[in-house]
Amino acid sequence: MEEMLLELTEGLWTFPIVLPDNPLKWLNCYVVKSNDGRDLLIDTGFNRQDCLETLLAGMSMLKMRPENTDVFITHMHSDHMGNAGALAERGSRIIMSQTDGLHFASEMQDQRVEARERAAREGFPRKAVDNLLAADRAVFFTSPMVDAIHVNEGDVLNYGSFSFACISTPGHTPGHMCLYDRQEKIMILGDHVLFDITPNICSWPGVEDSLGLYLDSLEKISAYDVALALPGHRSFGTLDVTQRVAELKEHHRARLEEVSAIVAEEPGLTGYQIASRMRWHIQAEDWEHFPEQQKFFAFSEAVAHLDHLVHQGVFYRWTDRDGICHYNQK
Ligand SMILES: [Zn+2]
Repeated sequence: MEEMLLELTEGLWTFPIVLPDNPLKWLNCYVVKSNDGRDLLIDTGFNRQDCLETLLAGMSMLKMRPENTDVFITHMHSDHMGNAGALAERGSRIIMSQTDGLHFASEMQDQRVEARERAAREGFPRKAVDNLLAADRAVFFTSPMVDAIHVNEGDVLNYGSFSFACISTPGHTPGHMCLYDRQEKIMILGDHVLFDITPNICSWPGVEDSLGLYLDSLEKISAYDVALALPGHRSFGTLDVTQRVAELKEHHRARLEEVSAIVAEEPGLTGYQIASRMRWHIQAEDWEHFPEQQKFFAFSEAVAHLDHLVHQGVFYRWTDRDGICHYNQK
């Protein structure tokens, strides 16, 4: 474990938390150590025993006590938020965006039902959706999130010699947040910008156009001067955020074009059918052989692109007698 600890700059540390059986491979956990005040830990890994053990081992190597630690959650995905409950039970304070905090509170009830219905309407097999949601729920935060401190755009988190401004970057989740220290030009990116993989953008209940929000948030982040880029997964360091933003924008532009071409050739397909005709970098023979979870992410990503095209007035969506949605060009 010791060799996994890395001091990025004085008082700012990182260590990886392996995410077993997951294509993301590991989460970058970041820590701000302050000499006399409270410490800040950013993101926590899945709610699984092995992830929790790594997290607690990392904290103990850095001589952190949970009761003296504030935990910032960049966004409400299980790989970032999973162990927030375990740390809260040990006395840590949890901090997250108000939007994701409120969304998460309702996520466990009505939002999950809505997400499930949406997937079924877009043609994803119902039984597979139920299995996947149950599996995700198992690695999620377990205790109620009543005590989380909610932050908004412009709020500032002061720890040690750092002063992190909260930057609202909706898209990957409705309330995703990055943190920026102006003096050291450090950007904690969560999953807003990843350098080795493309962040998954999916549709969310109550959000009309996730991809549109995401593209705006990419534009927003590229205006910052970043010397040290600290994303939630894989490579971090002196990486060029502006260039990566340009690549991600190009990726989605090409995706939108691909979706448009598929619908132009075969009007009236469902979201599920359109996803099955897109190109994916998944190691499997074909769409039918994709692992269910990967298939669901690919499908959700396709639906987010369809939402964007509908929102832009390029496509229209109609519902057949069985309640299934289809897409045509306007
Ligand atoms: Zn993640």
